Amino acid sequence: MHFVSTKSNLQVSIEEAIFGGTAPDGGLYVPSLIPEIDLDDFKTMDNYQEFSIQFLSPFFVNSIIKDNLENIVNESLNFDVIQSDIDTGKQSLSMLELFHGPTAAFKDFGARFLSSTMKAINQESGNHKMNTILVATSGDTGGAVASAFHNQPGFDVVVLFPKGRVSPRQQHQLTCWGDNVTSIAVEGEFDDCQHLVKAAFNEDQMIDQNLCSANSINIGRLLPQATYYAWSSMQYFKKHSKETNYIIPTGNLGNAFACFIAKKMGFPIGKIVFSTNSNKTIIDFIESSVWEPRNTIPTLASAMDVGNPSNMERFFHSYDSQSLAQSLEAYSVNDQQIKEQIKKEYGNHQIICCPHTATAFSVYRDFPDDTKDNNHWSLVSTAHPAKFENIVEPIIDEVIKVPNSLSRLLKLDSSFISIEPRLEKLMDIIL
Ligand SMILES: *Cc1c(COP(=O)(O)O)cnc(C)c1O
Repeated sequence: MHFVSTKSNLQVSIEEAIFGGTAPDGGLYVPSLIPEIDLDDFKTMDNYQEFSIQFLSPFFVNSIIKDNLENIVNESLNFDVIQSDIDTGKQSLSMLELFHGPTAAFKDFGARFLSSTMKAINQESGNHKMNTILVATSGDTGGAVASAFHNQPGFDVVVLFPKGRVSPRQQHQLTCWGDNVTSIAVEGEFDDCQHLVKAAFNEDQMIDQNLCSANSINIGRLLPQATYYAWSSMQYFKKHSKETNYIIPTGNLGNAFACFIAKKMGFPIGKIVFSTNSNKTIIDFIESSVWEPRNTIPTLASAMDVGNPSNMERFFHSYDSQSLAQSLEAYSVNDQQIKEQIKKEYGNHQIICCPHTATAFSVYRDFPDDTKDNNHWSLVSTAHPAKFENIVEPIIDEVIKVPNSLSRLLKLDSSFISIEPRLEKLMDIIL
């Protein structure tokens, strides 16, 4: 198993792909081949960690940390993944709850796995240099990465977030760490943050900082995300011998690409549908087959406010653009619809969903009946609604119970630095 750049024939080991983040030629790393699995090997596994070790092993076969994988999974993927059934009469619907980690969004899977693998790689390779994790966030990644790397020896963390574009509780999670974590509010949008991170990686002056990326462009984040699709599809398949179809709230396309990996490996996954907010780059591409990044529009589902989804590069590497446009399915849900959906799910089903998850519910409820009746659907629930209480509580007129992990963080003091979106400003801070 090697990892190849989407831009050339460059091949690297998984350690290099994880520590490099992006390839030196500007491409993103993808596995050189997608391992094919025998479903029977996974049928007997009910334990998520055991399942994950088996799932991830082929990607690490010739890695210096292959013997550490069990440890890595047990220490990083040590929180619940819940596939809960939603009672809808004759329709078969469930919600894949990915928000039971320390920062209450699915970003915990990737961030914690990345932190553990990087620590293991440093140990096994005898690297004692300091590394700087540089990460741009539209809200949830930064908190998850800061939490995962906080006080991890050998690592500094610099988190960039768009000022005023994240929820108050998200901002608290980004700025409450101190110690080895520096939080920076950028006067701009997520795309500006992402742009600054990319530019910093290309700066020769940054060589000594040993910069590492923890964005969803890092393949080390996508692999543990592929695991929960494999696992949840198997849970359903074991009982019903049928595939699961997913609706995935989508921004930078990392979570969606992870689902494609699991499907390609042979797990019983049917359709993969993206729900987006009013940022329509993907929708427009499906209509025109032309990829045209847009400026970002701020929406209520702010973690999906991405006008230029980076992981599209990985899709283009795997498919030609015409057939890709034909095979993808995506629907846009605007702010008004998000609000209505949150209200309806609460009123009709007592489900409280975050604004991102609401886009998946909206897409599902709008499907024609036969799509809903004859297929099993899993709506991917990407964050806990208590992270977005400023949006959700006024709509449902109810106070949302805060999960323990989140309430612990909210009690900590917070601090951050504000900068204009200019590389010199960022470099001043890092250097
Ligand atoms: C990051 C995020 C998304 C979008 O995921 P991508 O991998 O960027 O497509 C959706 N919902 C929430 C809550 C998120 O934090």
